[in-house]
Amino acid sequence: MAFADANGALSMSSYEEGLTMSRFNEINKVAVIGAGTMGNGIAQVFAQAEYSTVLIDTFPDALDRARGTIEKNLGRMVKKEIFSQDQVEAIFGRIQFESSLDASEGVDLAIEAVPEMHDLKLQILKAVDEPMAANGILASNTSSISITVLGAATSRPESFLGMHFMNPVPMMKLVEVIRGHKTSEATTSAICELSRKLGKIPVEANDYPGFVANRILAPMLNEAFYCVMEGVAEVEAIDEVITLGLNHPMGPLALADFIGLDVCLMILEVLQSGLGDPKYRPCPLLRRMVAAGELGRKTGKGFYDYSKS
Ligand code: NAD
Repeated sequence: MAFADANGALSMSSYEEGLTMSRFNEINKVAVIGAGTMGNGIAQVFAQAEYSTVLIDTFPDALDRARGTIEKNLGRMVKKEIFSQDQVEAIFGRIQFESSLDASEGVDLAIEAVPEMHDLKLQILKAVDEPMAANGILASNTSSISITVLGAATSRPESFLGMHFMNPVPMMKLVEVIRGHKTSEATTSAICELSRKLGKIPVEANDYPGFVANRILAPMLNEAFYCVMEGVAEVEAIDEVITLGLNHPMGPLALADFIGLDVCLMILEVLQSGLGDPKYRPCPLLRRMVAAGELGRKTGKGFYDYSKS
């Protein structure tokens, strides 16, 4: 329970602070499941913060790509003199690349970062729940799926929460920390503390479809897809209006390509079904592009063509 001090600010009791710190200090070994766009970045930031990290993906190609991406990212940091070559080797040495979920045995924290599919996430979370440490914390990097529903499928809903990193993970400061209905205060506070140790800024949110980031971002991206479909303007022009006119660092279509159009579609579907409002209906053009395998940067083609870059 939190108490209000004389100035009205909320503070934890010393008992709760102790509980938080003990949960935080118990985290030594971490597993990240799913080595795609998000998973490789999450593994990298944990290894940078000196955590022994196992990155698991059942697809060997995905593991190879993740290894290459992390090597490239860390190489860039050596060039920028953020790390020395020795430091980078030590960081890389802390990451174990594995293709079996059994490699999550005994970990104190597991973060699931597999595709935004409800049934797949449930299957992975159940499979990791068993071998990991009995008092460990289990988290999902889901963009939109209910943390309460995911947590209820595990044996530890009190120690389950959303740890929503932003893309690209090594660069972006925010971690949206989402409490499920049963998530304990000590779990939430320990993960906030851990996020700070990773060099991130945690912001807490409650469990509603899309939480905060995607509740606001996804409808904006969807409007940009409709603008393309209805011929309101060309792709480049739409992005230029938003970058120059609203000062966004990236236009919505370039951003959607960066996120992955399949991920955008899945988030919109969760918003539409979870909130029951037709305003979240995914744009038919988005559905068509995903069906055609045009998923953005990761497949070389989305709203832009990346095949030559
Ligand atoms: P992705 O498709 O790039 O990567 C998913 C990875 O999971 C792939 O490497 C795939 O091989 C692996 N995978 C699939 N089935 C698996 C299994 N059974 N066991 C282990 N690994 C398996 O997806 P992503 O963009 O990294 O998204 C992952 C999660 O992060 C999703 O929940 C997504 O909503 C969320 N997220 C994505 C972004 C973004 O910008 N892409 C941002 C924040 C959160």
